[in-house]
Amino acid sequence: MALASRLVKPETQGLVHVTVLRSERLSPHWMRITLGGGEIDAFRPMGYDQWFRIFLPLGGDEGLDRLPAKANKLFGYLKYLRIPDGVRPVMRNYTVRAYRAATAEHGAELDVDFVLHGSADDGTAGPASRWAETCEAGESVVLIDEGLAFNPERGTDRVVLVADETGLPAIAGVCASLPPHASGLVIVEVPSADDALEFAHPAGVTVQWILRAPGDKPGALALQALRDATLPDAPFHAYIVGEQALPTEARRHLVGERGVPKDLVSFCGYWRVGAASPTPKSQVASAEVHA
Ligand SMILES: Cc1cc2nc3c(=O)[nH]c(=O)nc-3n(C[C@H](O)[C@H](O)[C@H](O)COP(=O)(O)OP(=O)(O)OC[C@H]3O[C@@H](n4cnc5c(N)ncnc54)[C@H](O)[C@@H]3O)c2cc1C
Repeated sequence: MALASRLVKPETQGLVHVTVLRSERLSPHWMRITLGGGEIDAFRPMGYDQWFRIFLPLGGDEGLDRLPAKANKLFGYLKYLRIPDGVRPVMRNYTVRAYRAATAEHGAELDVDFVLHGSADDGTAGPASRWAETCEAGESVVLIDEGLAFNPERGTDRVVLVADETGLPAIAGVCASLPPHASGLVIVEVPSADDALEFAHPAGVTVQWILRAPGDKPGALALQALRDATLPDAPFHAYIVGEQALPTEARRHLVGERGVPKDLVSFCGYWRVGAASPTPKSQVASAEVHA
């Protein structure tokens, strides 16, 4: 059988205008933002680790109205960059933590769990983290669906899933989509015990929480836990996401030292220590500008 391509593309990739329905502080480092209304019916849930681009209205709603189609592709992105600084929305990548279809009582809803990092008060948080901490019901955002990085064709019966906290929504989504007979190992590193948000998973999947101490490099303990782990009998589908070094090093370990075929390892760097995602100058917090 030909191996599946790495990404599973969504059915449509149009701009989806939705609003913030509510937000909830789940733990010291987690903020859940529930989106809905607007064009939510155009969003097609795919399960697993479905992710999307989110455009945040940090320059006001005018910027969202000026977003070009395909702002996630080269030519659209160049047009997006032509939206004047001060108006241009901030674009970031996030994961569907949960999707609830419309009922007779309410429209469809989409939960997004944002890691709060740094501090909104002293300007050390990134724009997305700051926005999640302070956004209010009724604010508009725009989504572009990007589909799955966990390709189910690479296997769902046996899995090894490894992440830092940014990958917890993805791992929870994957586990919710696995068949009930699935087995395997999940390793998730979080910054505090309160941030270890439980999630549903097949009984045969063991979840190992790793607590990071202040000063530890994000992802390093999860990587060590993987190195120390007894892995399921091959073949299994390995999936690693989080701070850049974690997927890179974990993939090297699995392929080089555990003999896992490259094509059975899905991985994605979600963020990088010390490297901010592209941000309009007007939205760079003063602490970052003067750092
Ligand atoms: C496919 C995909 C799915 C993702 N899904 C989620 C998700 O569901 N939930 C989620 O919280 N994140 C998720 N992420 C990660 C998220 O996109 C990044 O953390 C993003 O950089 C946050 O943007 P920001 O504006 O807050 O910070 P940025 O402006 O990008 O960065 C500002 C500074 O903060 C640092 N930084 C960025 N993120 C973190 C962090 N998590 N912890 C500590 N320091 C950080 C950077 O190194 C930089 O120094 C996902 C990433 C990808 C690629």
